[in-house]
Amino acid sequence: MGSVTVLGSLNVDLVTSVPRLPGRGETVAGGRLHRLPGGKGANQAVACARAGATVRMVGAVGTDEGGDLLLRALAREGVDTTAVRRPADVATGTATILVEDGGENMIAVTTGANGHLGDEDTVAACDRLGPGDVLLLQCEVPLDVVRRAGRLAAARGATVVLNAAPAPPPDALGLPLPELDVLLVNEHEARLLASAGTGGEGEGEPGADSAEGAARALAARNGCLVVATLGARGALATRGGAPEVFPAPRVDATDTVGAGDAFAGYLAAALARGADPHAAITTAVLAASLAVTRPGAQEAMPRHDEVCSIRN
Ligand code: ATP
Repeated sequence: MGSVTVLGSLNVDLVTSVPRLPGRGETVAGGRLHRLPGGKGANQAVACARAGATVRMVGAVGTDEGGDLLLRALAREGVDTTAVRRPADVATGTATILVEDGGENMIAVTTGANGHLGDEDTVAACDRLGPGDVLLLQCEVPLDVVRRAGRLAAARGATVVLNAAPAPPPDALGLPLPELDVLLVNEHEARLLASAGTGGEGEGEPGADSAEGAARALAARNGCLVVATLGARGALATRGGAPEVFPAPRVDATDTVGAGDAFAGYLAAALARGADPHAAITTAVLAASLAVTRPGAQEAMPRHDEVCSIRN
């Protein structure tokens, strides 16, 4: 059984609920301020750990109290944080989040320490990887670090999974990335990346304006498995041909924050366990659909026994 290394972001989420999102120049009265551990990398590390994987986090936080909060949250889940650096004089990354009644949100992210990742973190992420291990990447840290880590991990025989979120500018990621085993995207990211080099979203190969067409085009171009999540409709997977569809169970979705992170974490954990992609995606859909029934990001990540119990 392999392990999962997550190279990615750690952010403190400052969450305020508002009756409605403010317009430009407007002030609205908010409810209580919540200060929660977040960041795509850290959220996915927690999902992996709750899925039962051995998880190592590689990233950076400040020497401030936010950094302490994030490291404590990961340690509580059993995630190895020894490769999370704390550069001096840099603040921890922060996401300022307004959530409207009904779930719509607005988010502004201050990169902070996440933007300080560099070559030493690439080496830290990859030096212990080997065949059977998984490197899980996202796009909330410098993209050159993401690309270099992917290349190094692939050279060491590890499985490389890139969750292309948040959606990077279409040409910034430098696709195609031959070192990828799995490219994980939501519908918007699929269309945006498929349009890279074509001048705009939906202007790529014929059919690339649908999530299915975009996923097929991306798979053909990158020579990897593309998994596209489709919200309440579940997910699809393709290597360029007709996609396999994985429907989501019908649930009472109350908070979709972190749904994509639950999916990514469970997918990586299952691949590290040696599951085939079909089984891994099936589990990831169930885990993410459970996560949307609960509030929050990290605290909403389901545990492996809960996912098993809805599968049976
Ligand atoms: P987010 O940005 O909110 O984290 P995302 O856009 O990356 O999410 P989605 O495609 O919205 O990702 O959802 C990921 C997975 O979460 C889906 O594949 C599905 O399993 C689950 N999911 C999301 N919304 C619902 C829903 N309304 N009902 C059931 N499952 C859902």
